[in-house]
Formats: sequence, structure tokens, C-alpha cells
Amino acid sequence: MPELPEVETTFRAIEKFKGKTLLKIKINNRNLRWKVDKSIEIKAKNQKILDIKRRAKYIIIELKNAYLLMHLGMSGNLRIAKKNDNYFLKHDHIEFVFEKERIIYNDPRRFGSLHITKDIENHILIRNLGPEPLSRSFNSNYLFNLCFESKTNIKTLLMNQKNVVGIGNIYASETLFLAKIHPLKEANKINIDDCKLIVNSAKKVLKAAIKLGGTTLKDFYSADGNPGYFKIKLNVYGREDLKCNKCNSKIKKVNVNNRATFYCLICQS
Ligand SMILES: [Zn+2]
Repeated sequence: MPELPEVETTFRAIEKFKGKTLLKIKINNRNLRWKVDKSIEIKAKNQKILDIKRRAKYIIIELKNAYLLMHLGMSGNLRIAKKNDNYFLKHDHIEFVFEKERIIYNDPRRFGSLHITKDIENHILIRNLGPEPLSRSFNSNYLFNLCFESKTNIKTLLMNQKNVVGIGNIYASETLFLAKIHPLKEANKINIDDCKLIVNSAKKVLKAAIKLGGTTLKDFYSADGNPGYFKIKLNVYGREDLKCNKCNSKIKKVNVNNRATFYCLICQS
């Protein structure tokens, strides 16, 4: 699944379309997580792109009178094609047509989405999102207040998008390894120093992945046609029974809320 670093990489790859005129949107197949509103084709015709942003795992394209709100779901990806390149792939759901190029939205598993809205801040998918993990709003005091009132474990708390966005399953495991905190530790037993470590670790892990152009989970291709890579060294995620890079003991795997969770019994407490 594209996680925040892949979405950031995708966003950066299409950022160059800012200021260009979107001639039209062509919907080949509107069956995504929610059926794509057909009126998008009319509403987005000949519209200058005023801005392109990322918020959580959404890509937001600002037009004059509306915003396009896109999510890549489990397997969605964007690629950029020359206008005359008519190479069509199965699952090419939507095409954004510009003068010289097209942005193509491909989604084999159809869990992604595209909406159009006039009020982005109050859109149901946006309005309850927590702060961005790389912003100053996500700091140790903020996390400590959340932990203090929490009745859940730290991993579940970190993955709740109302608390902080963009810390998915892989990054939650990796963050807690770096912070030396057991993923099942009750959040209300975590002190301010631990919160500092967790916040710094999350930022470090996400920045490293973004720097390397996103992670390489199957199905993801960055917009310039290269596969998204997860070259960042994973310390725990997907490493069940392998040796911990720090202490040589075996990495454990448990399920937390039906999500595979990896940790080192010795390093994390
Ligand atoms: Zn260890």
C-alpha cells in the first residue's frame, strides 16, 4: 500500500503541473472505492491548476472553483505519459489531460478515490485528520497529551489518523524500534522523554523514506515510471525470526488490531 512517503514522492513528481491548464479529465472507469462523480469531467474542463498539495495520504489539486481530492488506496499509482503515447494499461481509471502530457491514475484493486469539492477543509475525508507527522504540530507535548488520556497501546495510538496522519503499519513498527518502545505498551504509561524519542524517530524514519523516493511495496510505481523503492533499511518490519540488527536476538511478530507488528523483545520495552 502506498504510505505517506510514496504519496509524497508521487505529489513531488506531479507538482510540475502547477500553473498548467488541465484540458480535461477522462474517466475510463469510475468504479473506485466510491464511484467517481461523472460531473468531474465537466467541472474540471479547461481549468488552470492553481496549486497541488499533499495532506496525509491525499493529493489535493486546486482549481479555480473547486479542489480535486485524490487517494491512491491500496494499489493506486500515477504515471506521466506523453500526450501522443497511447499506451493503455489495464486499470487505467482516470486520465488528466494537459497540452503535452497526461497524468494517468491506475488502480488494480480499486480502493483509491477521486472527489471534487468546493470546501476542502470541511470535506468528510479531510476534516478529522490529525497533524502532519513532519510538521511542528506533531511534537512531544502534543503526543504526551494524547498518551496521557489514551486507553490503548502506543502502536494503535500512532496509527490513528485522528492523532497524527501518515504513520502506517510499517512506519509505526520502525518508529517504535528506533524509540526502543514496545508496540503494545499502554500509551498512558509513556512519559514525556519517551514521547520525544517517538516523535523524533517517526520524523527520522519518514524523512529517510521520502528521501529515497518512497517504499517499494508491490503495485507502486512512482509517477516518473520508476518503481517506488523501499531501500531504507528496515530494522523490524517483515523480519520475523531474523536477527535484530542491534542485539542479535530474534525479531518477534504479533498481531495488533489485525495488523502485523514487529519488534525486538530485548531492545524494546
Ligand atoms: Zn534487539
